[in-house]
Amino acid sequence: MGGSERIFRSAPPLMGEMLLKCPACESTLKETEVNFSGRRFGCPTCGEELYVPRSYSARFVVGALFISALLCLALGLRGIALYLATIALWFPILLLELILLLRVLPPPKIKMSHPRTRDVAPRDPANRNC
Ligand SMILES: [Zn+2]
Repeated sequence: MGGSERIFRSAPPLMGEMLLKCPACESTLKETEVNFSGRRFGCPTCGEELYVPRSYSARFVVGALFISALLCLALGLRGIALYLATIALWFPILLLELILLLRVLPPPKIKMSHPRTRDVAPRDPANRNC
């Protein structure tokens, strides 16, 4: 127990243990209840309309392209072959990334589609002067 327990504590969370919380009611959401692609979804507990910022999935897309290019470079590909292989490998790497990294990376910040202005003074976005 002792020593190995400490290692396990720093290990990435296993499937289903990802801490996703509804910002409205603070209830824990299951991975399967969250739409990671940026589409809106309803909280199963309170019904609040929620979404994951698109920057979260964009990170994966850019990351996959980077890994793909590095892999092709490591394989010795250059020029047009490098370009084509990067595109071809990009999607499978993106899928792998989503499967693996979703368990390792910090969970996305789930946001409310219609944030309540309980603590903040209500502000009309149309009247905002920049
Ligand atoms: Zn909720």
